[in-house]
Amino acid sequence: MRLISAMLMMALLPGSAVAQGSKAMLVVHGGAGTITRGSMTAEAEKQYRAALEEALRTGHAVLARGGSSIDAVEATIRVLEDNPLFNAGKGAVFTHEGRNELDASIMEGKTKKAGAVAGVTIIRNPISAARAVMEKSPHVMMTGRGAELFATKMGLEIVDPSYFWTERRWKSLQNQLRSETSPQSALPAGPEHKHGTVGAVAVDRAGNLAAATSTGGMTNKQFGRIGDSPIIGAGNYADNESCAVSATGHGEFFIRWTVAYDIAALMKYRGMTVQQAGEEVINRKLKAVGGEGGVIALDAKGNFAMPFNSEGMYRGWIGADGVPKVSIYKD
Ligand code: ASP
Repeated sequence: MRLISAMLMMALLPGSAVAQGSKAMLVVHGGAGTITRGSMTAEAEKQYRAALEEALRTGHAVLARGGSSIDAVEATIRVLEDNPLFNAGKGAVFTHEGRNELDASIMEGKTKKAGAVAGVTIIRNPISAARAVMEKSPHVMMTGRGAELFATKMGLEIVDPSYFWTERRWKSLQNQLRSETSPQSALPAGPEHKHGTVGAVAVDRAGNLAAATSTGGMTNKQFGRIGDSPIIGAGNYADNESCAVSATGHGEFFIRWTVAYDIAALMKYRGMTVQQAGEEVINRKLKAVGGEGGVIALDAKGNFAMPFNSEGMYRGWIGADGVPKVSIYKD
């Protein structure tokens, strides 16, 4: 009897009604920026599409077998981190000093547990380190050497910093350094010129949301600069009662406008839909101040939005039918 009333109580708790009978859904992004049809070759477009589809299928497989959204977003991000096309894990951009310093965060919407690492240089998959911080430590964020020591102790894969070296990113740093000293000699920026970052948000069959974000930050960053990606509420957030969000863009703006949490708060306190809240923050508030970028945002019923105010954003989603859908450009 006591058990039945406890179960009834749980069913009446805010948020849990929404969760019943939810359909699994996964949404990803691979960065926003100067991405136009004109700046992309057919071959490059094919590669990006294939990579995003592979990531979507990987996360979907987890959800389809009844796995949790947190497992799904971690698995999805690991695929994108291992792919040199994206500015996360292998393929991360270089700092001013020619290093790769990676940031990542993850959050669970049911418990509001979260974990993050920042400025790490030897962890192959920073997203798994963020998850370890969330699950195996009493903390939310670890940085630099400490985070690396923790990841090593947790048995995560450690690599030599040279693992993250890619020619394309190296050239892009050289180009930016050149443009500092003689702007005329700099080459036109490539499609991934400004932003990269990868993100995933998912809702599982139990109706629980999760969000994950991983990045190399911004090319030519200096002095241990950390962006929004590992900051809970800025570049990443999840709350079953509103939404899961992962951001990409000019991190300083996303931090100051607490973008991910603002979207969740507009839903929670103003009753906006995920589309309305996403538009309000990305295409009104941020656009007005020149904060370039975008987000993916998903609610516990499987409604989602992928607003961006840059020229393009690598993005995609996969629902119950298991067929990945990918978009890159504005229209
Ligand atoms: N938001 C990331 C940062 O500022 C970069 C990006 O998304 O491209 O570190």
